[in-house]
Amino acid sequence: MTWAEVDLTVVRQNALAIKSYVDDRKLIAVIKSDAYGHGLVPVARALRSVADMLAVATVNEAIELRNNQIDTPIMILYSSLPQDVSAIIEHDLQPTVSSPEFCKSLFQLASEKRRTVRAHVNIDTGMNRDGIRYQQATSFIDWLLSLPQIEVASIFTHFATTDVNKSSQMYKQLDRFKIVVSELRQQNILPPIVHVASTAALLSPISTIRTDFNAVRVGLGLYGVLPVMMKRMPFPLSPALTWKAPVISVRNVKAGESVSYGSDYKANIDQKLATLRVGYGDGYPRQLSNNGQVMIKNKLYPIVGQVCMDVTICSLDSYNTVSVGDTAILIGQEMTTNLPVNQLANRAGTIPYEILSQINKRVPRLYNTS
Ligand SMILES: *Cc1c(COP(=O)(O)O)cnc(C)c1O
Repeated sequence: MTWAEVDLTVVRQNALAIKSYVDDRKLIAVIKSDAYGHGLVPVARALRSVADMLAVATVNEAIELRNNQIDTPIMILYSSLPQDVSAIIEHDLQPTVSSPEFCKSLFQLASEKRRTVRAHVNIDTGMNRDGIRYQQATSFIDWLLSLPQIEVASIFTHFATTDVNKSSQMYKQLDRFKIVVSELRQQNILPPIVHVASTAALLSPISTIRTDFNAVRVGLGLYGVLPVMMKRMPFPLSPALTWKAPVISVRNVKAGESVSYGSDYKANIDQKLATLRVGYGDGYPRQLSNNGQVMIKNKLYPIVGQVCMDVTICSLDSYNTVSVGDTAILIGQEMTTNLPVNQLANRAGTIPYEILSQINKRVPRLYNTS
């Protein structure tokens, strides 16, 4: 079996560190996609009384939270469809709205049930994937005020890039958003919460967005992971997840023998190999074939041959004492050696978000609160 250990105290400490970095502005904790693989409900519980709001991507994720007695306000980050309206009202969820048709269905059912729904407006300032275009945002929000059952709790936007080398794109989006904010303020209809900063924007050295608005909407940072390799952090965050797998088999191969499917790895000297019980069927990226590294007893070893569905093979050196039953670390830290998820992501040609959210259901999560 392969497993992931998640330290919920670390998640909570990261959340507190973020809150203090933004001088106690509101924290909208993004826990979509099973809390980036860390476990939706356990993470939500760990953030109780720290997160002012939880954010998920789908109505089903929100219902799972409600079914587990999580009573923190929950926003749905993306547009919902009319068929979601009854669940939204029944479970007291806060949708993100941009379509008048959807708002009319929401208004109708809310009126029938005599309920008020809090909603959020995503303002599309250049990401071009969801939300109301910034040119229409003010009149849309003004129109929403004509639907008394819908209360606009917040407005937000999301940046397409926070890369320092592309800061002009970020500033362009920020300028567009600030224009909408000032229009709404002039008309006295600015919603109480205004937020733009995801993890990368929060940590970005190129702007003041962490203090420009009164909430931040952070995912990856909660888990102690940075969107990119950053040389300096303005405050400390610690990774909460360690992914482990056992050595299930050890063997010696002679120079010239091949390893795993496709025989695309050939030992050029006599070698000792260890086979780990983890594969792409657990979400371990196949792109790490002949390319990744694993850690055993505080030492890094290269993956050799193709990552299989259930097993992965690494090449040991001649000084090792690795044997069956030992534990390999796939993501994490041990004594002086560190194997961060960002390094895995780089080698696999992807981003830490994908690595974490792909860790499969077959991988049990073990929780400890240190
Ligand atoms: C996922 C998501 C976030 C969180 O982003 P991180 O980079 O994980 O902090 C914020 N806003 C929206 C709209 C998202 O979809």
